[in-house]
Amino acid sequence: MPLTLAEWLQLPTDLAEYRITDPRVIARFEKFFIRGADDECWLWQGGMINGRRSGAYGGFSADRQTQLAHRIAHRIYIGPIPVGLKVCHICDNPRCVNYVKHLFLGTDQENMLDASIKGKLHGGIRTAIFPPGWSE
Ligand SMILES: [Zn+2]
Repeated sequence: MPLTLAEWLQLPTDLAEYRITDPRVIARFEKFFIRGADDECWLWQGGMINGRRSGAYGGFSADRQTQLAHRIAHRIYIGPIPVGLKVCHICDNPRCVNYVKHLFLGTDQENMLDASIKGKLHGGIRTAIFPPGWSE
């Protein structure tokens, strides 16, 4: 079952990548993409990170490290990322940061397997969790 919003908000925040609220970070982030229509991909225009399988992801420097731009978009505009979850694209476009319609929290088979091998898996968050306002 997908988590409800109430359940999602109750996930322990110390196990999450926190929500980004610093206006300086947000202003810097917003220089690197242009908002289009809700159904379009909003392509990252800044630096890129090469993914193992999916091609190049947008990269953004925060907390003194280069991070995936679509994860930062989630943390700015939607909320924290609970531990073990991945920010996925419904559009399969790794450069896309359309947080309105194209990003959702989910798990990655490879990440899940990796986490279970390392004994880090804490519980059964397996279904995709859709942010408030997301609809098909
Ligand atoms: Zn997209």
